[in-house]
Amino acid sequence: MEQLTFLAVHAHPDDEASSTGGLYRVLADQGVRTVLVTCTNGECGDALDGAKPNSDHHDGDEVAKVRAKELDHAVEILGIDRLIRLGYRDSGMMGWPQNEDPDCFWATPVDVAAARLASILEEERPQVIVTYNEIGFYGHPDHIQANRVTLAALEMLEYEPTLYYNAIPNSVMGQWRERFEQQEREQKAANAAKGIVEPEQAASDEPEIDLGTPDELISAIIDVSSATDAKYDALAAHASQMAESFFLKMDRAQFKEVMGTEWFRRVTNPNDVGVVTDIFAGYR
Ligand SMILES: [Zn+2]
Repeated sequence: MEQLTFLAVHAHPDDEASSTGGLYRVLADQGVRTVLVTCTNGECGDALDGAKPNSDHHDGDEVAKVRAKELDHAVEILGIDRLIRLGYRDSGMMGWPQNEDPDCFWATPVDVAAARLASILEEERPQVIVTYNEIGFYGHPDHIQANRVTLAALEMLEYEPTLYYNAIPNSVMGQWRERFEQQEREQKAANAAKGIVEPEQAASDEPEIDLGTPDELISAIIDVSSATDAKYDALAAHASQMAESFFLKMDRAQFKEVMGTEWFRRVTNPNDVGVVTDIFAGYR
């Protein structure tokens, strides 16, 4: 039988764990070859001491070194067969000065990065590819660029893979929002008990991005309940970035209960399949 190969295009170290961690582990356990392309080094993440990007003593190159090791560890936990780092610099959030860095992913011409990705795709020939939607799931420039570069690379291929975007159904997003607000209330209460008064959060003038996908547009519903421990461990491997993680504020049991499914929205459909529970439906 033809070798099945799965490939995800992710923006930063840690994205592979948060949006496809369960799927990677499940596919590895099925004997599918799994490949990860990570576009940036993640220079704009938090430093180990919690320093935020753009603060005085934040050293992006040091952060990238820490994150490279964390990514290696996560890759091992998820059983990923091959990691390819495109090595672009992290572009930071929209409007940050890092957006202008000629070596950042956002400033790289789409066709240049797409040609590099296309040659990886031609070599690996993944039948199934995952990346983010046009708004990069939540508006981060590197995630948007991952979408653009992946779409452009697909145009350069001599075959048509099945492309999916990671997605959270609106119905689930509502439940998560409640859980998140609950976490925030508990944190506030705990702080208040310790005498810590938090400043009122200034209302953001950024428009809120709709993170959810209408339930009827979800086309792959993948049971990853056998892989929640691996997903949890892979997220925890990115320790430098997880201080405020919504996911890791849950204990393992809660995590298992909440994170047992991953959802995807299909973009190309060469096998003409409907809603699937196996992301390789039509290939096996
Ligand atoms: Zn990211």
